[in-house]
Amino acid sequence: MLTDYHMHLQPDGVGARAAAAPRWDADGGHLSTAWIARYVRRAESRAVSEIAITEHVYRFAEARDWLDDPFWRAEATEDAGAFCDAVGAARDEGLPVLLGIEMDWLPDRTDEIAAFLARHPFDVVLGSVHFLHGHAIDNPHDADSERLPVDVLWTDYLEQLVAAAESGLYDVMSHPDLPKVFGRRIPPALDGLLDDAVAAIAAAGVAIECSSAGLRKPIGEIYPEPSLLARFRRAGVPATLSSDAHAPEDVARDYPTAVAALRGAGYETITRFSGREPTQVPLRWDGGGSR
Ligand SMILES: [Zn+2]
Ligand SMILES: [Zn+2]
Repeated sequence: MLTDYHMHLQPDGVGARAAAAPRWDADGGHLSTAWIARYVRRAESRAVSEIAITEHVYRFAEARDWLDDPFWRAEATEDAGAFCDAVGAARDEGLPVLLGIEMDWLPDRTDEIAAFLARHPFDVVLGSVHFLHGHAIDNPHDADSERLPVDVLWTDYLEQLVAAAESGLYDVMSHPDLPKVFGRRIPPALDGLLDDAVAAIAAAGVAIECSSAGLRKPIGEIYPEPSLLARFRRAGVPATLSSDAHAPEDVARDYPTAVAALRGAGYETITRFSGREPTQVPLRWDGGGSR
């Protein structure tokens, strides 16, 4: 079985959404079953039989005050209940769709995060460290994040990734080596820190995602890079498979590369979720779709 457990119904950014809106308006809106069905059909065309829609928490008005950041506040316009109902309606129509959320790690907002997660019937909760020292580390428009020295960037990132994993709030840690997105790789001198982080994530009992999204980014490489994926495997950390699509055409994109990386790292199963309960299923191309 193949799955895609990380995707969004809209692009990020007010301008990008306005430009893309005519696409979903023709289907009855981005929360319509017809628009969600486009994601499912693209998944099935690539031999993927189950997807999870994992909207960013910062898209929702109820999280608007969690972070004092202009991007975050501008994004927070949607109703979380309506999103959950939309995914539920698609599932009621027979589509193989799980309800997920990409939940930012904000260490001073753990009470709000826990309350949000308790209010909605999520199948899978992704934990993402996007913000560090008030900067969005994966946002090309946040030039200040470039000024963080690379050793500080990675040391602080790994500390927050481990804290998130140990918080008990999350099922899967997203794009675990995200700071490399613009080419700033972890310095070799920090290799011991990386080992410690892998061990802590293993002990926390969360999964990590193998994401093809990095192949579409400046770094041009999966998250996590293959040798780090192998370290997670050796430490016994389970994996999910994902694309982080922000439009239907990117669902399960570049999966031959991602599946080969998982296999190369020694993974024979991937993690499936239902109601936040994980199970392992064989990692296998068994649909009729093209690769
Ligand atoms: Zn993310
Ligand atoms: Zn995402």
